[in-house]
Amino acid sequence: MNEPVRDKRTLSCADDYDPNSMPVAKAREVIARFLKPVTATERLSIRTALGRVLAEEVVSPFNVPAHDNSAMDGYAVRFADLKPDGEVALRNIGSSFAGAPFKGAVAAGQCVRIMTGGVVPAGTDTIVMQEHVKADKDRVSVGPGQKKGQHLRRAGEDLKIGQVALKRGLALRPAEIGLISSLGIGEVAVFRRLRVAFFSTGDELVSIGTQPGEGQIFDSNRYTLHGMLTRLGCEVLDMGVVRDDPRLLEKAFHDAAAAADVVITSGGVSVGEADFVKDLLNKLGEVVFWKIAMKPGRPLAYGKIAGAHFFGLPGNPVSVMVTFYQFVRDALLVLSGRDPVPSLPTFKVPCTSSLKKAPGRTEFQRGVLERDAQGAWSVRVTGEQGSGILRSMAEANCFIILPDTQGNVASGTLVEVQPMEGVV
Ligand code: AMP
Ligand code: MG
Repeated sequence: MNEPVRDKRTLSCADDYDPNSMPVAKAREVIARFLKPVTATERLSIRTALGRVLAEEVVSPFNVPAHDNSAMDGYAVRFADLKPDGEVALRNIGSSFAGAPFKGAVAAGQCVRIMTGGVVPAGTDTIVMQEHVKADKDRVSVGPGQKKGQHLRRAGEDLKIGQVALKRGLALRPAEIGLISSLGIGEVAVFRRLRVAFFSTGDELVSIGTQPGEGQIFDSNRYTLHGMLTRLGCEVLDMGVVRDDPRLLEKAFHDAAAAADVVITSGGVSVGEADFVKDLLNKLGEVVFWKIAMKPGRPLAYGKIAGAHFFGLPGNPVSVMVTFYQFVRDALLVLSGRDPVPSLPTFKVPCTSSLKKAPGRTEFQRGVLERDAQGAWSVRVTGEQGSGILRSMAEANCFIILPDTQGNVASGTLVEVQPMEGVV
């Protein structure tokens, strides 16, 4: 649905690399060159904007806080009245509560009872905590050791009038929604949702509700894709299972590209199947077919068909999730208007399993990050790592990322992990 990009030349920039052993980082780079974010926006009330991408700057219409106010329950005093080394008796002439400020001015020798959030009365410049005074009727004794300006929240210390409170491209979380509401703003412009159409390919697949025949299996990729896309905030268009039939596939690709910004398929891009899919996709657009130097998830197709971005993911259920996560996630966030796209955190912990790993490819093993009784974190691998074993994803709470150069990993070695929470 975006402008078609005539990119044969540009896509062939990928030709500098061996398509049979495409490094993960290079594939990401090539994809990144083609991504143009959506531009259409809509205005939403801030509650419904949760999770959406801000399409405008939110500017503070006033100082936050609007007035100097107290950070403590206590007394507003004039610092000049206090003695550095002795007690001083002040007269309490009134109160300033949150929402009910003291109206007058405070003269020498006077003070005002003040509560947290109360506006600091004219003439005062310092708050003394109530725990640090002796109060007897309207007589308030303040001891030494106070600091000028203590326990004050200054007008504008959070946001100055005209200051950009939130930048365009941010995803709105509860914190941002709260901040916008604190500025008295009830509606914001957000980018329209990215429309993503997806289907599964394969003669062996049946959908839930159908009895699988001999050699047939239930389609799971459409369900994981549906979940991952929904969590990313995309509008999803589930186009079902499509048989390995060139005519049906052509129609499916055509319909999907016409309806969506992005088309995602699973299956049909591995050796043996790729050839007729390749011909078909090259007829419909410009697509590159890579074998990524990674495990799981070697085959990956990327390109544009009829103006839509296309990701052809492998068929194996774990490969679908890993390739989605490693290539598609960031691309969809860029297209959705996110700026910057937040990097997913990784960090190193000792691995309590020994891992088999061949150098020359990046591996994304599924791990369980856990904490022992002493509070120390470590990771262990979930059992079998076959790319068809979806249970390895379901049991995992992180990826163990093993770089190209890495060989076998001995138990006790530090490995890089990437928590999945909030990601997949
Ligand atoms: P393919 O890439 O089409 O050769 O598929 C590789 C493997 O993944 C085969 O074992 C397929 O049966 C399996 N597979 C493909 N698509 C799906 C799907 N949607 N759900 C579950 N398994 C699938
Ligand atoms: Mg297949």
